[in-house]
Amino acid sequence: MEKTDQLYEGKAKKVFKTDNPEMLIVSYKDDATAFNGLKKGTIAGKGVINNKMSNLLMQHLESQGIPTHFIKELNDRETLVKKVNILPLEVIIRNIAAGSFSKHYGVPEGKVFESPTIEFSYKNDELGDPLCNSYHAIALGLCSREEIETVKKYAFKINDLLKAFWSECGVTLVDFKIEFGRLSDGTVVLADEISPDTCRLWDSETGKKLDKDRFRRDLGNVEDAYHEVMVRLQRSIESKKG
Ligand code: ADP
Ligand code: UDP
Repeated sequence: MEKTDQLYEGKAKKVFKTDNPEMLIVSYKDDATAFNGLKKGTIAGKGVINNKMSNLLMQHLESQGIPTHFIKELNDRETLVKKVNILPLEVIIRNIAAGSFSKHYGVPEGKVFESPTIEFSYKNDELGDPLCNSYHAIALGLCSREEIETVKKYAFKINDLLKAFWSECGVTLVDFKIEFGRLSDGTVVLADEISPDTCRLWDSETGKKLDKDRFRRDLGNVEDAYHEVMVRLQRSIESKKG
């Protein structure tokens, strides 16, 4: 599959058209941003890790009945995906208090919830991705009532599957952000990426942060943390293959 025009350059990825109008190529960069683009930097090797990790996780989810945009990994940084119309919603699931949740509600980081929470942000950089609920999303015309129900159902199932998957790697899935999109026939599928950029991942024994918080909070050893979670994931997959 040949890359043609660049369709979009985002903060972490570039998106290219292909000669098939239903398919795109995403190319993962090492650029890192935080706080709505205010903090900028580079995490060496991040693009390669996020590409591979996202693809492995999406393939696992697909095998468990979650439709995703994944088609084929093309090389270290590039993946062929199904083109979708992104629902302009960031869907956030939390198992443990951290980040903005802890700040908003005055809850210490690390408080484990009895059951997971879901929240939505309207994906709009100019407005700073404001929080919204499912009624707002429908009122704003971001998606239909049926679509938001599908998104909720998939998001909680994805959480169950990823929590179990990471737990086998000695990693606790604290929270994560996912995005969904519509294929040309209207089917809602999981799109974008699942990586240490978009998940909070803590070592299950020590609580060490193995995700983008190391960059956001200047904790150091950012590259090592990304590398470590990737190695753990690969080892776990290898051991399952026997
Ligand atoms: P951002 O736009 O937040 O800076 P990225 O740098 O990750 O984010 O850019 C990738 C863009 O591609 C995002 O806007 C994302 O919503 C979009 N995207 C992800 N998967 C697909 C897909 N399968 N089809 C179309 N767009 C996609
Ligand atoms: N997240 C993301 N992109 C965003 C905002 C959040 O991937 O634009 C992820 C983030 O990595 C974390 C989860 O969503 O895993 C919850 O983030 P939170 O709302 O706590 O925001 P933050 O602390 O990053 O401001």
